[in-house]
Formats: sequence, structure tokens, C-alpha cells
Amino acid sequence: MKVETKFALINENIKLACKRADRQPDDVTVIAVTKYVSNERALEALNAGIEHFGENRDEGLTSKWEVLGDRPVLHFIGTLQTRKVKNIIDKVSYIHSLDRLSLAKEIHKRAKNRIKCFVQVNVSGEESKHGINPEKVIPFIQELELFTNIQIVGLMTMAPNTDDEGVLRNCFSRLRKIQSEVKKLNLEYAPCNELSMGMSNDYIIAIEEGATFVRIGTALVGE
Ligand SMILES: *Cc1c(COP(=O)(O)O)cnc(C)c1O
Repeated sequence: MKVETKFALINENIKLACKRADRQPDDVTVIAVTKYVSNERALEALNAGIEHFGENRDEGLTSKWEVLGDRPVLHFIGTLQTRKVKNIIDKVSYIHSLDRLSLAKEIHKRAKNRIKCFVQVNVSGEESKHGINPEKVIPFIQELELFTNIQIVGLMTMAPNTDDEGVLRNCFSRLRKIQSEVKKLNLEYAPCNELSMGMSNDYIIAIEEGATFVRIGTALVGE
């Protein structure tokens, strides 16, 4: 199926989910996750009007950046090794996977201007998942004050791989609760207005629970 068709379907689902949750569709941004697909398919997505793209590896990010150029907004969504920061830092507007001080330090050092970052939270506590524990989010963010090239725009999580709607909903609503705790701190460098949550299988639930960025690969550009 054409990306354009899938994008229209997803936008329709977003509209309905927003209606149910009494939210505005404009407050939800779709990130096309192109990690599985060719440069040609990514270009097709760009031509279908998609403005945000996400990649989870530095090679993939660089390769997509070479064909898409500066036209879209690029997001780094995957686990980021400290030594890879220099390969992506000038190409991305957002990093979704900030989860440790050593990474913050490197981003701060390499960035030429302020980078928008999400703190990745391991809400579900699964061993296999990256991200910091919910109770460590506030102390972690408080330690970031000196890294003036970093702005904490929000929190990100990956839900467990399950079809259990209750489990998914609980995961997303917990991230939202942590977000409201961070916002209460009123830190200039951590407005934390965004929630990056929801993928192909769970983006509708994530939006109902407050997602402002959804990261969609399979359902939008294909696997
Ligand atoms: C791959 C990936 C996605 C997209 O996954 P789909 O299930 O294909 O939509 C979203 N977020 C992250 C961090 C990913 O690595």
C-alpha cells in the first residue's frame, strides 16, 4: 500500500482517538520510523507530506539524511552509544533516548545548539528495556542543569510487547503522571510538555493517554 494511503488511515485514527480523549489532532505529531525500509520508501513518505522521520541507528540516520536532506525533522529514537553521538548530532532535532549522564555530557559537548531531548523511562521495568527507572527520573533531570545544550522537552517510553490493553494503558498513564511531576519543578531547561509514546500496535491507546509524538514504522512505511 502507498504510504500516502496508510498516512491518511492513521490520521483518521488519530482524529477519532483525539475526539474520544477530548484532544486536538494538531497536538499529535507522527514520526515515520524508517529503520526497516529503503531510502526510496522514505522519499515516498516525504512526498506524501510526512514531516518527521525517526531512525534508531547512526548508519540508518545518516543514510536517510543523505537522501531526505534538511527537509524533514529528524529524530533519533534508539539506544545511543556515547561514541556515536558525534555522527548524528548535527543531523537531528530530537533525541528520544537520553537515559544516562555520560550521554548527556557528550550531547552537551558536541551540540552546536540546543538539542531537544526526551528522557527515556523504563515504565514497565522489563529487564530488556532501556531507560531509567520511574523513581529516578526527577533526580536525573535535576542533574542536567549544567548541560545547557540540552532541553528536556518530554519523556519517552516503549510499552511492553503485548496486546493487553490494560497493561498498555497503565504504562502510558504512568509516564504521563511522571511527566506532571517533572512539570511541577518548573525548570527552564525541562519544560517537559511532550510525551513520546505509541508505536504501530499501540499508538491509538497512547494518544488516548496523552501522547504528543507517536513513532510509527510498520503500520506507516512498512516492515
Ligand atoms: C522500531 C521502533 C518504533 C516503530 O516500531 P513499529 O512497531 O514498527 O511501529 C518505534 N520506536 C522505537 C524506539 C523503535 O525502535
